Amino acid sequence: MLTFGFLWLIFAFGVGMLAKQRGRGVLNWFLIGIVISPLLGFAILMMMKDLALADALDTVTHDMELTHVKCVHCAEYVLPEASVCPYCRRNITPQPEYVQQRIAEKVAETEEIQAGKQGNMVIGMGIVVGISVIAWLSTFIK
Ligand SMILES: [Zn+2]
Repeated sequence: MLTFGFLWLIFAFGVGMLAKQRGRGVLNWFLIGIVISPLLGFAILMMMKDLALADALDTVTHDMELTHVKCVHCAEYVLPEASVCPYCRRNITPQPEYVQQRIAEKVAETEEIQAGKQGNMVIGMGIVVGISVIAWLSTFIK
Protein backbone atom coordinates (compact mmCIF):
# COMPACT_ATOMS: atom_id res chain seq x y z
CA MET A 1 0.00 0.00 0.00
CA LEU A 2 2.86 2.32 0.84
CA THR A 3 4.51 1.52 -2.48
CA PHE A 4 1.29 2.26 -4.29
CA GLY A 5 1.07 5.67 -2.64
CA PHE A 6 4.72 6.27 -3.47
CA LEU A 7 4.18 5.41 -7.15
CA TRP A 8 1.08 7.60 -7.21
CA LEU A 9 3.20 10.54 -5.99
CA ILE A 10 5.99 9.84 -8.47
CA PHE A 11 3.51 9.65 -11.33
CA ALA A 12 1.79 12.85 -10.20
CA PHE A 13 5.21 14.50 -10.05
CA GLY A 14 5.89 13.23 -13.59
CA VAL A 15 2.64 14.78 -14.77
CA GLY A 16 3.78 18.06 -13.22
CA MET A 17 7.16 17.88 -14.99
CA LEU A 18 5.53 17.01 -18.31
CA ALA A 19 3.14 19.93 -17.82
CA LYS A 20 6.18 22.18 -17.48
CA GLN A 21 7.56 20.85 -20.78
CA ARG A 22 4.21 21.69 -22.36
CA GLY A 23 4.25 25.26 -21.04
CA ARG A 24 1.83 24.76 -18.14
CA GLY A 25 2.02 25.13 -14.34
CA VAL A 26 4.01 22.40 -12.53
CA LEU A 27 2.20 22.69 -9.17
CA ASN A 28 -1.31 22.80 -10.69
CA TRP A 29 -0.72 19.62 -12.67
CA PHE A 30 1.03 17.88 -9.79
CA LEU A 31 -2.08 18.52 -7.67
CA ILE A 32 -4.41 17.44 -10.52
CA GLY A 33 -2.36 14.24 -10.77
CA ILE A 34 -2.72 13.57 -7.04
CA VAL A 35 -6.44 14.36 -6.89
CA ILE A 36 -7.87 12.78 -10.07
CA SER A 37 -5.14 10.14 -10.61
CA PRO A 38 -1.85 10.60 -12.46
CA LEU A 39 -2.94 8.55 -15.48
CA LEU A 40 -6.06 10.66 -16.05
CA GLY A 41 -4.03 13.82 -15.44
CA PHE A 42 -1.50 12.61 -18.02
CA ALA A 43 -4.26 11.86 -20.57
CA ILE A 44 -5.91 15.25 -20.10
CA LEU A 45 -2.57 17.02 -20.29
CA MET A 46 -1.70 15.29 -23.57
CA MET A 47 -5.10 16.20 -25.04
CA MET A 48 -4.60 19.86 -24.22
CA LYS A 49 -2.68 22.13 -26.53
CA ASP A 50 1.09 22.10 -26.15
CA LEU A 51 1.65 25.72 -25.13
CA ALA A 52 5.44 25.48 -25.20
CA LEU A 53 5.31 24.22 -28.79
CA ALA A 54 2.78 26.90 -29.77
CA ASP A 55 5.08 29.49 -28.23
CA ALA A 56 8.14 28.17 -30.07
CA LEU A 57 6.24 28.05 -33.38
CA ASP A 58 5.02 31.59 -32.80
CA THR A 59 8.63 32.71 -32.47
CA VAL A 60 9.49 30.92 -35.72
CA THR A 61 6.66 32.43 -37.75
CA HIS A 62 7.43 35.91 -36.46
CA ASP A 63 11.14 35.72 -37.07
CA MET A 64 11.93 38.40 -39.68
CA GLU A 65 15.12 36.67 -40.69
CA LEU A 66 13.11 33.56 -41.52
CA THR A 67 9.94 35.00 -43.02
CA HIS A 68 11.59 37.77 -45.03
CA VAL A 69 14.45 37.98 -47.48
CA LYS A 70 17.20 40.56 -47.45
CA CYS A 71 17.27 42.97 -50.38
CA VAL A 72 20.53 42.37 -52.24
CA HIS A 73 20.94 46.12 -52.80
CA CYS A 74 20.12 47.78 -49.50
CA ALA A 75 20.07 44.77 -47.11
CA GLU A 76 16.63 45.66 -45.74
CA TYR A 77 14.19 42.85 -44.93
CA VAL A 78 11.47 42.64 -47.58
CA LEU A 79 8.58 40.23 -48.20
CA PRO A 80 9.62 37.16 -50.23
CA GLU A 81 6.95 37.93 -52.88
CA ALA A 82 8.31 41.42 -53.60
CA SER A 83 9.85 42.06 -57.02
CA VAL A 84 10.64 45.67 -56.23
CA CYS A 85 12.30 46.60 -52.97
CA PRO A 86 10.05 49.06 -51.05
CA TYR A 87 13.12 50.67 -49.49
CA CYS A 88 15.46 51.29 -52.40
CA ARG A 89 12.98 50.80 -55.29
CA ARG A 90 15.32 48.49 -57.18
CA ASN A 91 14.30 45.21 -58.80
CA ILE A 92 14.77 42.03 -56.78
CA THR A 93 13.97 38.37 -57.45
CA PRO A 94 10.87 37.12 -55.59
CA GLN A 95 11.57 33.84 -53.77
CA PRO A 96 8.41 32.79 -51.91
CA GLU A 97 9.01 29.03 -52.32
CA TYR A 98 12.46 29.28 -50.82
CA VAL A 99 11.13 31.13 -47.77
CA GLN A 100 8.17 28.75 -47.37
CA GLN A 101 10.48 25.77 -47.46
CA ARG A 102 12.83 27.38 -44.97
CA ILE A 103 9.94 28.02 -42.55
CA ALA A 104 8.59 24.47 -43.00
CA GLU A 105 12.02 23.06 -42.14
CA LYS A 106 12.30 25.23 -39.05
CA VAL A 107 8.77 24.27 -37.91
CA ALA A 108 9.55 20.55 -38.32
CA GLU A 109 12.81 21.01 -36.39
CA THR A 110 11.03 22.88 -33.57
CA GLU A 111 8.35 20.18 -33.30
CA GLU A 112 11.02 17.49 -33.20
CA ILE A 113 12.95 19.21 -30.40
CA GLN A 114 9.80 19.64 -28.34
CA ALA A 115 8.69 16.02 -28.89
CA GLY A 116 12.20 14.84 -27.97
CA LYS A 117 12.15 16.72 -24.65
CA GLN A 118 8.80 15.17 -23.71
CA GLY A 119 9.89 11.72 -24.90
CA ASN A 120 12.93 11.86 -22.59
CA MET A 121 10.64 12.85 -19.71
CA VAL A 122 8.31 9.89 -20.29
CA ILE A 123 11.24 7.44 -20.63
CA GLY A 124 12.75 8.81 -17.41
CA MET A 125 9.46 8.31 -15.58
CA GLY A 126 9.18 4.78 -17.01
CA ILE A 127 12.61 3.89 -15.62
CA VAL A 128 11.76 5.28 -12.17
CA VAL A 129 8.48 3.36 -12.11
CA GLY A 130 10.21 0.20 -13.35
CA ILE A 131 12.79 0.36 -10.56
CA SER A 132 10.05 1.03 -7.99
CA VAL A 133 8.05 -1.99 -9.17
CA ILE A 134 11.14 -4.21 -9.02
CA ALA A 135 11.91 -2.94 -5.51
CA TRP A 136 8.30 -3.62 -4.52
CA LEU A 137 8.33 -7.13 -6.02
CA SER A 138 11.62 -7.92 -4.29
CA THR A 139 9.91 -7.47 -0.90
CA PHE A 140 7.92 -10.65 -1.68
CA ILE A 141 11.07 -12.70 -2.20
CA LYS A 142 12.28 -14.26 0.98
ZN1 LIG B 1 16.45 47.42 -51.26
